[in-house]
Amino acid sequence: MMKRFVKRHTYTALVFAVLTSSACAAEIPGTMRVDFFHSGNHSAELLSLDQLVIEPLPWTGNMAQPIDRTLRGKYLFEIVSNGVTAWSRSFSSIYGEWETTSEAREINRSFHESVRFPSQDEVFEIVLKKRDANNQFEEIWRIELDPDDVLVHRESARYADKVIAIHKGGDPANTVDLLLMGDGYTAEEHDAFIDKAKMLADVLFATSPFKERKDDFNIWALAPAAPQSGVSRPSTGTYRDSPIGATYDAFRSERYILTFDNKSMRRIASSAPYDFIEILTNTDVYGGGGIYGLFSTAAANSEWAPYLFVHEFGHHFAGLADEYYTSSVAYEAPAEISEPYEPNVTALLDPKKLKWKHLVQSETPLPTPWPKAEFEKHSIAVQQRRAEMRAANVSEAEMNSLFRYTRDYADALFEKSGQEGVVGAFEGGNYQAEGYYRSEQNCLMFTRSESFCAVCAAAIEKVIDEYTVSD
Ligand SMILES: [Zn+2]
Repeated sequence: MMKRFVKRHTYTALVFAVLTSSACAAEIPGTMRVDFFHSGNHSAELLSLDQLVIEPLPWTGNMAQPIDRTLRGKYLFEIVSNGVTAWSRSFSSIYGEWETTSEAREINRSFHESVRFPSQDEVFEIVLKKRDANNQFEEIWRIELDPDDVLVHRESARYADKVIAIHKGGDPANTVDLLLMGDGYTAEEHDAFIDKAKMLADVLFATSPFKERKDDFNIWALAPAAPQSGVSRPSTGTYRDSPIGATYDAFRSERYILTFDNKSMRRIASSAPYDFIEILTNTDVYGGGGIYGLFSTAAANSEWAPYLFVHEFGHHFAGLADEYYTSSVAYEAPAEISEPYEPNVTALLDPKKLKWKHLVQSETPLPTPWPKAEFEKHSIAVQQRRAEMRAANVSEAEMNSLFRYTRDYADALFEKSGQEGVVGAFEGGNYQAEGYYRSEQNCLMFTRSESFCAVCAAAIEKVIDEYTVSD
């Protein structure tokens, strides 16, 4: 006898108070998640199943766009049902970053990962693909799953009553649902989290192109009470068992905040409607992180929280590359330079095929001159000073004044260069001083400035369309 565990929902029938405002009669599928372990080292990887999960809330993605048209991440997953690809999404992962660090040459490690998709009624396959040396997706894992298997876990909406709507643009099925998760907030600090979430949502909506597309977003906030204030920062001996597990010093990079506790994060998040997650840590030390399709993080009490929040969301939401290149990172430089898949950096191997050529004026030279040597001299000196100050554990106020000094220096340098707003190919980006180019002299993905370059803005808009447009 066939059992039918997979239920269809309509938003009007939902018991969750957080969704009752959106009356939509259309049939909306449930949400499924496959949890798995991603293990390996610099030369080999192994994927293994943890479990198939039925999440408690309806699917919030755009059913009119089942096949990923942006293809921005390092990986791609497909749901194959009766031999037909029913759903696909590209994404990046902590494993995908870790395998490029020096540690991956020394030891094997495992990372817990998830993919989420509209619920399936019949037996289906998950196919995982990874980019090869030519950036083409190659299959690395395939597994058959049965939604009727008794071992499929049914998750409860344990935190549903803690979900707060910060901004309502419309029906979750036709909007981008961004979930702000607070980590390291005690019960007494919950109001401070909500205030911060509202402030940062306002910052996002003051930044183009989010500003013009505000009605295409819902923003939700959820912060399970932490036993202690703050999150882990191992380099200074600070350890916390915070609910979401966010920690500084990811890959031993002092400013890099990630959570490696994917299972806890997913179990908390599934109480809320979401397509994207940004974790706000209850900390004041500068830091953040963002991985395409996974989550982004920002230190909510840093003076730079508005910049960190939007910059890291750019990574997570639109798969944007870092356009900066003088800060230290844990990743090893590529052996040879090939065209990156990120939309906002190029190797400029053939200037005639520049991916943002349509935005370049005919008189603009490629590569495009800018005060590169002057910028690098300043920036490298500041990075050295920054490392010394962190090593000496100086106050965050002192760090902030260094960051203000370097932002003001860059603003003044770029203003006098005469290249402001020019779209071309400016050498330096993607963590490399040579061989990679960005589209404008300055951008929120390059320095602590307040606006995205035209190429980044267009790349963000394309993702918003994926969640809102039906054709
Ligand atoms: Zn940019």
